[in-house]
Amino acid sequence: MDVTDLRRNKVDMERTEQQWQEKPIIGACCVCADVRDDIAVEGGWYDLEAYLNRYGFQEADLVFSHTFCPACYMSYKQTNGLED
Ligand SMILES: [Zn+2]
Repeated sequence: MDVTDLRRNKVDMERTEQQWQEKPIIGACCVCADVRDDIAVEGGWYDLEAYLNRYGFQEADLVFSHTFCPACYMSYKQTNGLED
C-alpha cells in the first residue's frame, strides 16, 4: 500500500463519519416497530415501510432510537399495573 492509498482511505473514513453524523435519528417503537414521524407537522406514528415510502428514505439512511409508541406504552403500563 503506498501513500496515495493511505490518503484515500482517510478521506473515505472521514466521509463515512460525516454521513453517520448527518443521519436523522428516528424514534422506533420496540414493541410494534412503528416509527415516529418528526418531519410532519402533525407528527404521529407510522409503519416503518409507510414512513420510508413517504419520505423516500432507505432504512440504512436512518438511525433508530428505541422507545414506545403511545399505544404500546399504554398497554405496557396496563400490563404492568402502572396505569394512572
Ligand atoms: Zn408500538
